[in-house]
Amino acid sequence: MAHIVVLGAGLGGTIAAYQLRDELDAEHSVSVVGRGETFSFVPSNPWVAVGWRDRPSVEVNLVPVFKRRNIGFHPQGARLLHPAERRLELMDGVSISYDYLVIATGPDLAFDEIDGFGPGAGTFSICQIDHAVQTKEAVQKLIRNPGPVVVGAVQGASCFGPAYEFAFILDKALRDAKVRDRVPMTFVTSEPYIGHLGIDGVGDTKGLLESQLRQNHIKWICNAKVEKVEDGKVSVSELAENGTVIRAHELVSTFTMLLPAFRGAEAIRGIAGLTNPRGFVLIDKHQRNPAYPEIFAVGVCVAIPPLAPTPVPVGVPKTGFMIESMVTATVRNIKRLLRNELPDAEATWNAVCLADFGDSGVAFVAQPQIPPRNVNWSSSGAWVHAAKVGFEKYHLRKMRSGTTEPIYERLALHALGIEKLKDIKIEETEASAPQ
Ligand code: FAD
Repeated sequence: MAHIVVLGAGLGGTIAAYQLRDELDAEHSVSVVGRGETFSFVPSNPWVAVGWRDRPSVEVNLVPVFKRRNIGFHPQGARLLHPAERRLELMDGVSISYDYLVIATGPDLAFDEIDGFGPGAGTFSICQIDHAVQTKEAVQKLIRNPGPVVVGAVQGASCFGPAYEFAFILDKALRDAKVRDRVPMTFVTSEPYIGHLGIDGVGDTKGLLESQLRQNHIKWICNAKVEKVEDGKVSVSELAENGTVIRAHELVSTFTMLLPAFRGAEAIRGIAGLTNPRGFVLIDKHQRNPAYPEIFAVGVCVAIPPLAPTPVPVGVPKTGFMIESMVTATVRNIKRLLRNELPDAEATWNAVCLADFGDSGVAFVAQPQIPPRNVNWSSSGAWVHAAKVGFEKYHLRKMRSGTTEPIYERLALHALGIEKLKDIKIEETEASAPQ
């Protein structure tokens, strides 16, 4: 009998636990180490930040779901991984040992790398639900006292979609409040061009997003390195192709929301052979760490090299559908190892993304994520907003019922003519019945 532990109860970790429970024989035990008892749907945070969702509507109490699914739960969080001993030291000093470990710790937010940056300092965030709730207060203040706004993503960021989403969602919230005419907006990004998204664009994301920014009267600065934030002012160096500063901007801002660079979680950072210098987990094509082959990793915590050098560093994004495919591959590989077979499953590494703009949006499919691609498609319209709402409802339903079927990606691929409907099965597990 083996004990499989999942570290992290976010988007990747929860579906990994459910899927392991679905796939593995009952004799094996599955446990999750989370930080707190609640799952929070990160993609809804831009809506929480403008008051279109409240916190309870995007959270799920994991205790009853894990209990029903016979998954052990340690919500106290992990202090440190001891991979040579196959042991996780938890925050309360208790240790748990594992036969296989799936790391799904997501990003640590590197606000400390820029002076005056981050919640509690000079800027707001939507990366975590606590931040989004704080940001909502600031948005309401902005509506009462309109002034210039800066939104975007700093050097080293890899998550650009939510920065665009928040700019357009905030724009809509300000229009609805009839104060948009008193809020000059600037989008500041480390990307070399609008719509690059860390993956050299998808389809015509450059044209679509530039056009949308123009239509919504949002100015932009690309190749932007944020130097510091202080006293309602964002200092930005705009770099040329060769890395020299072509212009220094001092942007007056009454409200600033910038996505930070990510790094690996503290509990796993700095472990030789396990993580790279930024703390991301090194994996092979089977999601497995070469130095500690009983450790797998899924989600934002995995190491992916940047696409190509850019004047200001940008990272490659890891999005929901891709994370689901990492989970599916990991679960199959652990199952095979438990049967003394070699791992054979690989994640698809496709990016299927919906960027919501409040009343419209941009969707794209990059297959594979890194160009040149077999599918390089993007489109825009009001349907993207509806699809994103559907994605939220669908994912939260899965979280509440404890089921994992990654049907959404496959339906999206079918709608685009990439996958045939006859190949798509909806599997209801015993736990998937609505409670
Ligand atoms: P997370 O969901 O962040 O989960 C990591 C979990 O690990 C967290 O719960 C954390 O508390 C826990 N953890 C960390 N350290 C420890 C520890 N020591 N002990 C115990 N637990 C620990 N992708 C899309 O496809 N579509 C979207 O619309 C979309 N929107 C996004 C919006 C925002 C604002 C952001 C930031 C990202 C968005 N993404 C989106 C990207 C990505 O899908 C999400 O970031 C997703 O939540 C990543 O999943 P994850 O499991 O890797 O990390």
